[in-house]
Amino acid sequence: MSLIFPAPKVNTIPVRGTDGLFPVNRIFCVGRNYEAHAAEMGNQVDREAPWYFTKTPSATCASGSTVPYPPGTSNFHYEMELVIAIGKPIFKGDQRAAQEAVFGYACGLDMTRRDRQQDGKDARRPWDLGKDVENSAVFAAITPKDQVGEIGGQRIHLSLNGDIRQDAKLSDMVWSVAEIVSHLSGYYHLVPGDVIMTGTPAGVGAVVAGDKITGGIDGLDPIELNIGPAE
Ligand code: MN
Repeated sequence: MSLIFPAPKVNTIPVRGTDGLFPVNRIFCVGRNYEAHAAEMGNQVDREAPWYFTKTPSATCASGSTVPYPPGTSNFHYEMELVIAIGKPIFKGDQRAAQEAVFGYACGLDMTRRDRQQDGKDARRPWDLGKDVENSAVFAAITPKDQVGEIGGQRIHLSLNGDIRQDAKLSDMVWSVAEIVSHLSGYYHLVPGDVIMTGTPAGVGAVVAGDKITGGIDGLDPIELNIGPAE
């Protein structure tokens, strides 16, 4: 038996300071993890437990890329996020095990068709057309966790064409890294290659063709995305 066409490529994220590549398995995303962003979207945060949506690994996009403005939207938004990269298997793990399962952290952009996400909310339907957008999971290089230290007071920020739009601290997250990884591991056998986008601070907004997004988190490699014309 053999493959009837070549297997899809493995999507990868560079690892800072090495020539190694982190192969992306699954992409989980946390909803409403910053109170001020939940408020700007007309929602309250959920204090009972974190909740999630997913993106297809083929949505992976390298920082520094120029991507076409996607089809099917007239309200394409940026969301600047801390990304957790999982490096050890974890299933039903406590918070200590969760910390040990983390390989490292990266800057990420959860690019979103906001109008299609709103359609889903209005109709009580899934968010896939809003969130699982081609090239919408943008990752800068992963920094191994021992080079990052404790996640807490680091600044997370995003600028659009040089104007600051999002500016917060990682300590503003409702759910911590350990809480998220531990909780998610109650539902999935997390494995090396899984990544978790941990939600965005307030200040999300729309982009148009020609825009340049730049973002950063203290101690991590910065991220950049350029929006090209629609195909
Ligand atoms: Mn997000």
